[in-house]
Amino acid sequence: MKQDLQVAFFGLGIMGTGMANRLLGAGFPLTVYNRNADKARALVSAGAKVAGSPREAASGADLIVSMVADDGASRAIWTGEHGALAGVKPGTTLVECSTLSPVWVRELAGLAAKAGCELLDAPVTGSKSHAAGGELNFLVGGNAAALERARPALSVMGRTATHIGPTGSGALLKLINNFLCGAQLASLAEAMALIERGGLDAGRAMEALTNGAPGSPLVKIIAARAASGDVTPNFPLRLMAKDLKYAAEEAARNGLPLETAVTALGVLNRALQAGRGDEDMWVIVDECRKAKRDRPITAS
Ligand code: NAP
Repeated sequence: MKQDLQVAFFGLGIMGTGMANRLLGAGFPLTVYNRNADKARALVSAGAKVAGSPREAASGADLIVSMVADDGASRAIWTGEHGALAGVKPGTTLVECSTLSPVWVRELAGLAAKAGCELLDAPVTGSKSHAAGGELNFLVGGNAAALERARPALSVMGRTATHIGPTGSGALLKLINNFLCGAQLASLAEAMALIERGGLDAGRAMEALTNGAPGSPLVKIIAARAASGDVTPNFPLRLMAKDLKYAAEEAARNGLPLETAVTALGVLNRALQAGRGDEDMWVIVDECRKAKRDRPITAS
């Protein structure tokens, strides 16, 4: 089915590859850009065009979607001589789906406005399989009318696209979402260390916990992945650490110490320091167990 909107897509990582494939499969004329051009090969074979820079990809696009790692990556994609904002035509709708700081998102929205464009911050919940299957949920900040212009494309990549509020609202809610996930991840890692140190049967203990009140969807997923031992990243550890850092920084800007985010980040940092940032985030369970095992038990 041929679609009207010319779409440019930046960032063909774990999430972006699935999202771009959904757009192509739904018939959107698609131009992709990725810093490492090799990752565009499969999409080009399937019918996408590849651009040599974000600027080149942006020229001629009606809608631009970005899904890159962090604030630095987003800045590199949108700004500068070869950045997308140097090539956009006025009236283009810009959809920044990466998980970013609200401070950067607001600055970017200002730069977009100067180029005559509207920016939506539209980070997603869901992971690799949801991106590949068009089952993401977009948390959208910005102008509601711009969301309606983007909706035909968002609806092939996701199940829902919810308007949260003005620019930065989607980014903030996503950081709060991942703060809750990161805190659960860190406490699960410590719980599993205690199960081991306390000599409990790990299988029986985890079955009781995951079937009980602590058994959130995230805890179930992490427990299952830890049991499998598969470290292939669905959500790389370095990205969860980034999200906890952005959440703590944003809370501090609001005069609120996000103490559990800082504590969780400390747990994640041990695994980052062990060089495991590119592995799936569950590996903190592994690292936490090791660290605890090496530590002597002291009486009060
Ligand atoms: P990823 O696999 O690490 O991909 C990151 C992408 O960003 C790659 O395309 C990478 O390009 C690009 N990039 C990084 N630094 C760059 C720079 N300086 N300049 C230009 N491009 C740069 O990450 P992902 O898992 O797809 O996540 C993408 C975003 O979605 C992140 O903000 C993440 O927090 C968020 N997110 C992830 C998940 C998940 O489950 N994975 C779920 C929800 C949200 P290269 O290929 O050239 O390195």
